[in-house]
Amino acid sequence: MSKIVFFGIPAHGHTNPTLEVVKELIRRGHEIRYYSYDSFKRKIEKTGAEYISCDSYDIQMKLTPQDGERIGKDIVFSTEILVKTTLAMDDTIIDEVSQWKPDCIVADSMAIWGKLAAHKLSVPFISSTTTFAFNRHSAKIMKQDITQLFKMLFSIPRANKLIKKLRTKGYPVKNVLSVVQNDNDTDTIVYTSPEFQPCSDTFSDKYTFVGPSIRTLDYKVRKPQRRTVYISMGTVNNVMENFYKKCIVALKDSDLDVIMSVGEFVDLERFGDLPQNFTIARSVNQIEVLQQVDVFLTHCGMNSVSEALYYKVPLVLFPQTPEQGGVAYRVNELGAGVYLNEDSPDKIKETIQEVFDNYSYKQSAEEISKSFHRCGGYRLAADKIENLINEGQ
Ligand code: UDP
Repeated sequence: MSKIVFFGIPAHGHTNPTLEVVKELIRRGHEIRYYSYDSFKRKIEKTGAEYISCDSYDIQMKLTPQDGERIGKDIVFSTEILVKTTLAMDDTIIDEVSQWKPDCIVADSMAIWGKLAAHKLSVPFISSTTTFAFNRHSAKIMKQDITQLFKMLFSIPRANKLIKKLRTKGYPVKNVLSVVQNDNDTDTIVYTSPEFQPCSDTFSDKYTFVGPSIRTLDYKVRKPQRRTVYISMGTVNNVMENFYKKCIVALKDSDLDVIMSVGEFVDLERFGDLPQNFTIARSVNQIEVLQQVDVFLTHCGMNSVSEALYYKVPLVLFPQTPEQGGVAYRVNELGAGVYLNEDSPDKIKETIQEVFDNYSYKQSAEEISKSFHRCGGYRLAADKIENLINEGQ
């Protein structure tokens, strides 16, 4: 039996894939401590892991799920969080981790404090990457927003100053890029297939593309008789009342059933009397829903897209951030989805219809699904962690 520490950031998309890995490791007899944030406590404890709260360690900057999404996109913000969180944790959590004597530390690629702790304590380390793995080749393919890149370059000197503080505390950090980037020397789990990851052949063999880590249901899901569409803008930037209303106008008189997940902050009353063919909820069991539907209109979060393609559901792509734009670009390039270019009711209806009419989207989704199923998912991720521990002994 080994002892393994996980470090997460406050974002569902970054937490969900790790939960299955944690469950699998516990099933194999290992003991897990998971450092994360209180909004994720319940989910983490359900796996059987010991949850430890990091909420009090970002006293100056309370991290919300929205902040979680900003980490990694805005480099000064990320570095501030990195330095402050790491320094705040230094005295207590690092001591606590050191006393617990873990055999391995697994940290989200954005929870850089986990990577630094592993370096400082000389514990084997694995990075957990829930988005596409990122190097200069994949960045090009994913057409990262050029203004973002400029902003990054100009802010590096300021961020590097913050990094110096870490060095004085004994963290072996060269510069910002050396901690923020995916690098070829760090053991890394990526939750997608080599076929779906852009430029997967440009990453070293330290990378393991395990495929999506999907929660399994212990019951069978029956597909409804009527054709069904699922609409969701994810869990973060999902306050889009007008868009949801346009979807209702677009599809209320169609022969399709519609399931729409609108998030915590939209007032359901504002939709008035719903058409008979609509089911609207703040949150749905997406793994169950995806096994019932024919088309998914999505914001293109990496998890939503991976889960949909795993279940062979073709997509209508409506990305809202540069990162989601990268995921949408890849889906479109591989033929499993089409962009919603304009969010008018007519265009919403027409674009969904196009996916029903053109079977090639479904076929491409099936191809990507095959590549996901070939990978091994959370079991392979657990194997990789166990192998690293065995190598270190
Ligand atoms: N999700 C869910 N129910 C919902 C909406 C979303 O269970 O009603 C889950 C979904 O299955 C996925 C995660 O929340 O695992 C969303 O992650 P994603 O990366 O797609 O988007 P984000 O919310 O981070 O923008």
